[in-house]
Amino acid sequence: MNVCIIGTGYVGLVAAACLSEMGNDVTCIDVNKEIINRLNDGKIHIFEPGLESLVSRNAAEGRLTFSTDLAEGMQDALFIFSCVGTPSKTDGSCDLSYMDTVAEQIGQHLSDYKIIINKSTVPVGTADRVKAIIQKELDQRGVSVEFDVVSNPEFLKEGDAVNDFLKPDRVIVGTDNVRTAKLLETLYAPFARSRDKMIVMGVRSAEMTKYAANCMLATKISFMNEVANLCETVGADVKEVRAGIGSDRRIGYHFIYPGVGYGGSCFPKDVRALINTAREYGCMSNLVEAVDTVNNRQKRQIADKVIDYFSARGGVNGKTVAVWGLSFKANTDDMRESAALDIIQVLTDAGMKIRAYDPVASENGKKILADNSHVSIMDGQYDPLDGADALAVVTDWNQFRNPDFNRIKKMLVHPVIFDGRNLFSRTFMKDMGFSYISVGRQPVI
Ligand code: NAD
Repeated sequence: MNVCIIGTGYVGLVAAACLSEMGNDVTCIDVNKEIINRLNDGKIHIFEPGLESLVSRNAAEGRLTFSTDLAEGMQDALFIFSCVGTPSKTDGSCDLSYMDTVAEQIGQHLSDYKIIINKSTVPVGTADRVKAIIQKELDQRGVSVEFDVVSNPEFLKEGDAVNDFLKPDRVIVGTDNVRTAKLLETLYAPFARSRDKMIVMGVRSAEMTKYAANCMLATKISFMNEVANLCETVGADVKEVRAGIGSDRRIGYHFIYPGVGYGGSCFPKDVRALINTAREYGCMSNLVEAVDTVNNRQKRQIADKVIDYFSARGGVNGKTVAVWGLSFKANTDDMRESAALDIIQVLTDAGMKIRAYDPVASENGKKILADNSHVSIMDGQYDPLDGADALAVVTDWNQFRNPDFNRIKKMLVHPVIFDGRNLFSRTFMKDMGFSYISVGRQPVI
């Protein structure tokens, strides 16, 4: 089948690579010439495990091509996926300007029947909006062309995106058109081999499903962070509490880890967008608003702990903190809304210096933090520790789980570790002679 993917980011490039892997002919379109040039040179611009080899294999076999020319890319395609960004506006609502532009461009070039698929995360009603924009362009051109607009939200996770796309828990298709649903079932058949993985529903339900899923996951995280904070105060240990509640099958162990708060390009903006949708329709969203509030507080919590620790020991000014991890979670270079950015801002505002390391997000970090003269990004994991007063672990990269503690202790001025991910055992830290401050557990001082 012939597919055109518009927007070659984390979602678009993964979808394109996986669809071409199944034998489809896929053209990727992006407005960013640099991205397309890099892809045409065989290099990918994002870090995603397994993606580079998939892209290069399918590109070499001629099933995957890259271009900035949408008219050419959509010419032979039956399916046109819109995978452009839908960031937050300053009021928290979803910025649909990239989606609108794509719809206008499709309308300007549409000449035969196509299925336009909204894969980006977009508020309820966006499929109708896209349809109206395309129709307006067709009317202006004075032509009549049939087309369908479908909602097909994406549920992949950065860091495991290729696996998630190849073996999805479910594929949601929102359309009232039975024929369109059948065509999408055929396209997705290699991924959703068991029939119950394919869930066809109304367009608005599909759009809502994506927000409901992300907000449910964000709720679990904020709930557990609130429980963790209470554990610290009342003398409980959140690791033990997690084991206790997770064993209940109605609750389960997934997504109930406390930490530095959720970040990334999805949860924060999608939570805000759902709050905004509720407001727009005059509905209450007390729970989701609380999820957002708890998360904003949690994102700076480990920084507050660093400040409290040094304030009680002569002051924070001029102190240096080594930070391990810049990406919002392990296995990605994505720093969008990463807690590391909040933590670094709070610490540097308080007069501290930061020496940071991340296995893959360092290059992004150098660009994003270029204006903060109190931050240096180092190339080796142990480089930031040299002469630092403390270590703060922010991202849960595997290589941080079992580091050389003797080396850390020798390099730090103060043997103190702030652990935003609860990677280490309190007893072990105590035996090693560290002060150890984590999340939802009693500090080792
Ligand atoms: P991204 O920012 O990585 O990629 C978007 C791409 O679209 C960019 O390369 C940009 O240059 C391109 N673009 C913008 N306007 C364009 C246009 N008019 N024509 C062609 N290309 C254009 O975004 P992403 O992380 O891939 O997310 C895309 C959408 O998918 C968002 O709505 C997001 O919420 C949703 N989503 C993301 C994830 C994730 O983990 N990243 C998971 C599920 C859903």
